[in-house]
Amino acid sequence: MARLARDHGDPALLAFIGQLVEDNSLEGEAAVVARKLLEKGATKLTADERVLLEQEVIEPYITACEACDSTPSWAEMLHVYDTGLCAKCFNKLEGVEVPAVRPDWMPLPAPPEEDDDTIAGLPALAPVDA
Ligand SMILES: [Zn+2]
Repeated sequence: MARLARDHGDPALLAFIGQLVEDNSLEGEAAVVARKLLEKGATKLTADERVLLEQEVIEPYITACEACDSTPSWAEMLHVYDTGLCAKCFNKLEGVEVPAVRPDWMPLPAPPEEDDDTIAGLPALAPVDA
């Protein structure tokens, strides 16, 4: 797998880590170091914290697209982590599959209740003059 640049001050990486923090995806020390990075900046991290950041925050989330094997940008990383596909492949597959699986089994929307009430409320089978 291609190794991503590891500038811990990279705005795209910080946005990615910010998303992890926001989603409460990090626990324990990983969450603490991630928050410190976001609040104080990369230069304030100790060497140990940088290692922990790499091992506990960044590495676990680095993944490649299952379809095209590309390593996504940080902006796309969580999408690939969640779906297994980069946005390009995801959209390509979406475009093909969504109409195909438009389910026949999906029930039609129920008719509005008020129609039933109106019918039920009518005088029973008033004679119809032809
Ligand atoms: Zn892809």
